[in-house]
Amino acid sequence: MDILSTVELNDCPLCLGPGLLEEEGGHCVYATCLDCGCHTVPVNYRTEAEKLDAAQRVAHLWNVGKVISEGVGE
Ligand SMILES: [Zn+2]
Repeated sequence: MDILSTVELNDCPLCLGPGLLEEEGGHCVYATCLDCGCHTVPVNYRTEAEKLDAAQRVAHLWNVGKVISEGVGE
């Protein structure tokens, strides 16, 4: 079972596009928007158990709108 698919992700807080949890290099996870490309900071993990914890922290950041946009700054 893919552990990341068990974590709830809201729509993008910026554009309401579809949010996606991504793994990077097998040691960190972050959430990103398929439409506007904004993303959360990556959260590192070392074990499978920490991976779920990291994914939940990322999902929380995403769901409260703490995302980074590569576009024009504020
Ligand atoms: Zn978006």
